[in-house]
Amino acid sequence: MPIYEYECDSCGGVFEVILQVGGAPSSCPICGGHECRKLIGAPAIHVKEDRATARIEKRVRDHLIDGKVSDAVSFADKAASMVKSDKVKRIADKLHHKSGKLGKRQ
Ligand SMILES: [Zn+2]
Repeated sequence: MPIYEYECDSCGGVFEVILQVGGAPSSCPICGGHECRKLIGAPAIHVKEDRATARIEKRVRDHLIDGKVSDAVSFADKAASMVKSDKVKRIADKLHHKSGKLGKRQ
């Protein structure tokens, strides 16, 4: 089965999906959004990561502005596991400090 790379328009997360030919992912595994675009090839993974990171940061901030710290933490955790970026991991770690849940990861 082929593996396709998708980018979510909502959170900017990039993820891989194993699909039958012609299939489509039902939702983003990071934020649950349905606006996902198939990426053709992967020539600029670092650029995509940077863009994804910026959108993840914004999303986390939005959660924090709303006072939803636990939502922000779980979103950052999911994002960190999907987007292999040190920056996203640092965001997630910072949030764990903030929410006092440090040490309860995994
Ligand atoms: Zn998403």
